[in-house]
Amino acid sequence: MELLCLDLEGVLIPEIWINFAEKTGIDELRATTRDIPDYDELMRMRLKILDEHGYGLPDIQAVIDTLDPMDGAKEFVEWARENFQLIILSDTFYEFAKPLMKKLGWPTLFCHRLEVDEKGRITDYKLRQKDPKRASVIALHSLNYRVISAGDSYNDTTMLGEAEQGILFHAPDNVIAEFPQFPAVHSYEDLKKEIIKASERDISL
Ligand SMILES: [Mg+2]
Repeated sequence: MELLCLDLEGVLIPEIWINFAEKTGIDELRATTRDIPDYDELMRMRLKILDEHGYGLPDIQAVIDTLDPMDGAKEFVEWARENFQLIILSDTFYEFAKPLMKKLGWPTLFCHRLEVDEKGRITDYKLRQKDPKRASVIALHSLNYRVISAGDSYNDTTMLGEAEQGILFHAPDNVIAEFPQFPAVHSYEDLKKEIIKASERDISL
């Protein structure tokens, strides 16, 4: 029994916060965990900025709705679902990801949740658990699945390490250099080849 676990942002869809910052012109929202390593602190700052600019969830979803999955992502997801049970493990929020998940054909997504008041203002956020990507792979192992996994960044590396095979996709050079134990690929065709190599079954491209 095999499962494929994929990261979302940078693998199937563009980085939501960076693109939201570009679309709205709010430069401070470009900050990532590379600038502010504490995710809690980063999220508090983001929510404060959204508040200051008067952005509620419906406005944010409208902007996110103008984004598209990466070129070839939809076809790749179709191939993945034809050959594997696919689970997307992400540090985004259901409410943000929704417009893009629709464009990907609603694959299964494990991520976090926002709290929103009746006026659409984001009042808080709920992280599902600590180290959620790795914890998910551990849980899937307890269900007797072999896990093949792909991601692009630091927050994926514990998931990649926990899986039977981890693969870096579209990762920046510093991540590739720091984690040489994972094969690194940059196109969906090459990602398919690595996944097929990692599988115990006979799967065609
Ligand atoms: Mg990512």
